[in-house]
Amino acid sequence: MTQRRKPAPGRLIAATHNPGKVRELGDLLAGAGFTAVSAGELGLPEPEETADTFQGNAELKALAAARATGEPALADDSGLACDGLSGAPGIYSARWAGPEKDFRMAMQKVEDGLKVETTEDGEVDKRASFICVLSLAWPDGHVESFEGVVRGQLVFPPRGDKGFGYDPIFVPEGETETFGEIEPERKHGMSHRALAFAKFMDYLQS
Ligand code: IMP
Repeated sequence: MTQRRKPAPGRLIAATHNPGKVRELGDLLAGAGFTAVSAGELGLPEPEETADTFQGNAELKALAAARATGEPALADDSGLACDGLSGAPGIYSARWAGPEKDFRMAMQKVEDGLKVETTEDGEVDKRASFICVLSLAWPDGHVESFEGVVRGQLVFPPRGDKGFGYDPIFVPEGETETFGEIEPERKHGMSHRALAFAKFMDYLQS
């Protein structure tokens, strides 16, 4: 079995310009002896997300930051993949909400899309997944990636205002409330991001 490469404890570049993500990553990494420094703080440009998978986009963001700084860099990519829409919005989850970040509109688009896909017997496939991939890249092109997936069911109309994005239309398996209704602390312990982070932490600490 090939040995997985590990970063030396110290500074780790968080390849994101989103202050919320930097904080979340920073808290997590601190526990493992790393200090997160964001791509935003370092004035690095944001690469265009041109890949066609979550992993591809997480890797290209991490690699761009690693190559620009000469240091290991961590990035994530995430979104909602609906079975009844062949995986859409998927990597386009943020883009479906437009420049205004209008997630009411994006959730309506999901509901409308599922109506179009309804069979003659009125069957609608409401199964969906939230997916997150975390990638750690080195300047020489080596990458380690970690995926977290939560399966669930879509519900309409949207319910709850405790989350963000598509949270109000997603009920995770085994729950009755949407991610928009579940207390954020509980959501953060069970989310696709939490699962990807847990795999990443296992790898750092193993
Ligand atoms: P990213 O910043 O490119 O990873 O964009 C991810 C997009 O996916 C966000 O803008 C949200 O629309 C959606 N998304 C990812 N994770 C979640 C979540 O936990 N709840 C709701 N929406 C999410």
